[in-house]
Amino acid sequence: MQEQAIAWRHAGDDIGFVPTMGALHGGHESLVTRARKENRRVIASIFVNPAQFGPNEDLDAYPRPFEADRARLAALGVDAIFHPPVDQIYPPAFKTHVDPGPLAEALEGKIRPGHFAGVLTVVLKLFNLTQPKRAYFGQKDFQQLVLVRQLVRDFGLPIRIVACPTVRQPDGLALSSRNAYLDPAQRAAAPAISRALDAAAKAFAAGSTQPAELESVARSILQGIPGSTIEYAAVVDETTLRAPSRAIAGSVLAVAVKLGSTRLIDNVVLGAERL
Ligand code: AMP
Repeated sequence: MQEQAIAWRHAGDDIGFVPTMGALHGGHESLVTRARKENRRVIASIFVNPAQFGPNEDLDAYPRPFEADRARLAALGVDAIFHPPVDQIYPPAFKTHVDPGPLAEALEGKIRPGHFAGVLTVVLKLFNLTQPKRAYFGQKDFQQLVLVRQLVRDFGLPIRIVACPTVRQPDGLALSSRNAYLDPAQRAAAPAISRALDAAAKAFAAGSTQPAELESVARSILQGIPGSTIEYAAVVDETTLRAPSRAIAGSVLAVAVKLGSTRLIDNVVLGAERL
């Protein structure tokens, strides 16, 4: 992969890179479509990264429909699909990990210790193997996007990170490979997550700037989801991920909700057209 990527770059071709864990849906496709428009070459990776899963998480259960994924990516006109085996990314002698620093201590990172070390380690390796000029990430995984931007700044990587809006079902549910885990009743209840975000965004637009107030608008709707647990519903600064004293345009309300054993995350940028 790296030899091919270097050959493309030497030939003057820009590479757009879309890292994924497969089980592709319209959200992934939007990233690939954007990359296709902006680069001479597009590489999509499919790699279910063990390092970003905790010991009690869904690594083994994570869907891996490779043939369907391959067909989707081929139809979108990617130049290469990088689908390495785990022991090629993490051979037995593998030793070095990225320390994601304090931004990994908030939100997802607090609940999933080690998750972002795993994400940034594989992202850095995948960047080196695919030599992108631009790399495409979804706003849906907002904290991941913030941490990848920080990685690029801190390590001086010559890569532009392109954030892409969250793609949703018509009923508002953000597309996610994990939606497949929902039973019909959970699936029917899940759009309350995006309704909760919308309600808080409307409250902000109507003048409410107290984080606690906005969070409680969202929580009151999330609590109506039967059998759910709210892991967090927090207004944070878009770059520091700290709780602001007042929400401003650009602050992000991020939520994680467990429906049964399925964790879903979503977020809204306050004061923006829905991203
Ligand atoms: P994953 O396969 O879950 O690791 O996601 C790969 C990339 O797709 C990440 O940059 C995600 O943020 C992005 N992504 C996942 N779901 C969506 C969505 N509903 N809309 C836009 N991007 C998404």
